[in-house]
Amino acid sequence: MPLKLGLVGYGRMGKEVEKVAHARGHVVLQTYDVPHLLTPDAEVGDIDVFIEFTQPDVALANIEIALKLGKPIVVGTTGWHQHLSEVEDKVKRAGSGLIYASNFSIGMNIFFRLTEFAARLLDNFAEYDPFLHEAHHRGKLDSPSGTAVSLAQLVLANSSRKTELLTSPPAGKIQPHQLHVSSTRSGAIPGMHSVCFDSEADTIELKHTARNRSGFALGAVHAAEWIVGKQGLYSMADLLDDRFGNLKL
Ligand code: NAD
Repeated sequence: MPLKLGLVGYGRMGKEVEKVAHARGHVVLQTYDVPHLLTPDAEVGDIDVFIEFTQPDVALANIEIALKLGKPIVVGTTGWHQHLSEVEDKVKRAGSGLIYASNFSIGMNIFFRLTEFAARLLDNFAEYDPFLHEAHHRGKLDSPSGTAVSLAQLVLANSSRKTELLTSPPAGKIQPHQLHVSSTRSGAIPGMHSVCFDSEADTIELKHTARNRSGFALGAVHAAEWIVGKQGLYSMADLLDDRFGNLKL
């Protein structure tokens, strides 16, 4: 069924989503960007679903407006997930649907599962010390990336020795319970994430490199197709479980 989309944020990701949506037979009815923002009194009758890729400080307001307008929304913007439980309440009260991901690419979502498995496996071997590194283009506003935070949380959840994220350089010696996440910002890098486990003898490195933005956009359009008609707050992991069965290793 072709969807009628409203794109909130028409920057790098908004434009990529438009390309992928057209290729899958959907129609972009409206784009919202500065200065023509999505407002609670916008005429959105025909729009089936919004796809939001803006910036961390405006994502929450856009989510609230979409809920008020009674439309489901796909949220790709990162840097707002500390408000997830508050948003979940609002989604429930509105009786609407929201799907979010720090990274919509299918490859990265498979990488999440591999990271979870590796962290659980390596937790049995105290000599392996985990750390993460990520690199992105110079235009990225949040640091570390939302994806790196998601990956780090998976490591923390599966590690008996790491209990705290350290996202800035350590003041002095790093504590054994701290999980270090470092970031580089340079050039046009679409996204590189590496999850490493280091020992005296060797390093095990799991690495995901995005070649361009099309994978994120394709995942977001899949999410739009999936969320229409559903109620509640979902993540990309829910979509994968639903489409492909439980992929947990
Ligand atoms: P971008 O800077 O190219 O585009 C953001 C756009 O949002 C700009 O055009 C800006 O004018 C617009 N904007 C700002 N305030 C707005 C508002 N109130 N309403 C509507 N539009 C507004 O950034 P981008 O590369 O497209 O990334 C956008 C977000 O998506 C970032 O948070 C980034 O980290 C995230 N991202 C997520 C994924 C994923 O898979 N989840 C992938 C890539 C990027």
